Amino acid sequence: MLKGKRVIVTGASTGIGEQIAYHLAQMGSHLLITARTEAQLQQVVAHCLELGAASARYINGSMEDMKFAQAVVKKAEELWGGLDMLILNHIGNSYFHYFNRDIEHVQKLLNINFLSYVTMSVSALPMLKNSGGNIVVVSSLAGKIGFPLTVPYSATKFAVQGFFNSLRQEFVMQNINVSITVCILGLINTESAMKVVSGTVTIPSAPKEECALEIIKGGILRQREIYYKYMFTKIPTLLRDWAPELMDYVIRKSFNVDNLNED
Ligand code: NDP
Repeated sequence: MLKGKRVIVTGASTGIGEQIAYHLAQMGSHLLITARTEAQLQQVVAHCLELGAASARYINGSMEDMKFAQAVVKKAEELWGGLDMLILNHIGNSYFHYFNRDIEHVQKLLNINFLSYVTMSVSALPMLKNSGGNIVVVSSLAGKIGFPLTVPYSATKFAVQGFFNSLRQEFVMQNINVSITVCILGLINTESAMKVVSGTVTIPSAPKEECALEIIKGGILRQREIYYKYMFTKIPTLLRDWAPELMDYVIRKSFNVDNLNED
């Protein structure tokens, strides 16, 4: 279903985004990937071409800058004259410890993790309307339930889900044929996540390759939300409303703050 489709993947230099790019390459899609680190993007593009991508290009820059977010979509328009799928996956670096009252960090993370998602969606909407395409938003259980040690990150994920779940309602009311899939992920074994939570989190991690495939499937099947892995995301989300204090307790208990890594 994705052969020949034109797809933007953000945050594709590493982790889940990189794996999404490889799956799409194997499916024969046209790819435009983005992140900040050019050398890494060059390697991912080269591998995508080896795997069979119809085409693979990159554009590097920071999503802290909304002009860059717009430029990525513009590049897709110049390359392909249209767009079938927009996969919003990047996140800015955030700390893993108690909230340090750094408002500038909250602002910066909101720009990268939330406002750039909105900016890219707005820019891409005319092309996505033409193709009857998909917006796929990678989020987290931390955007459903308040998480300790990641307060600013969790806030940005709540913002993302609030925006895209509301926008989906308006698309239906206005007969706009663009699907919005919000992906609720549990802990995934990407290098960056494993480094951050090492020794602190007792929850098992799931494989990034399988996670990436589930995200793509959710998008192409136009699912409202996907939960990966189900057991560690859907069940806590259901319990959140039925037994909020119990759920908060279970979440707190899954963090071993004695081993907190202050980096
Ligand atoms: P990674 O840290 O591996 O990848 C993050 C990507 O974003 C990289 O490509 C990075 O590249 C890019 N990036 C970082 N800062 C910026 C910036 N300022 N502007 C543009 N791009 C930037 O993350 P994961 O693969 O672990 O996570 C991917 C998604 O999955 C995220 O949305 C995350 O919230 C979600 N998720 C992940 C979980 C996990 O356990 N791994 C759990 C729940 C959700 P570069 O540094 O070169 O810019």
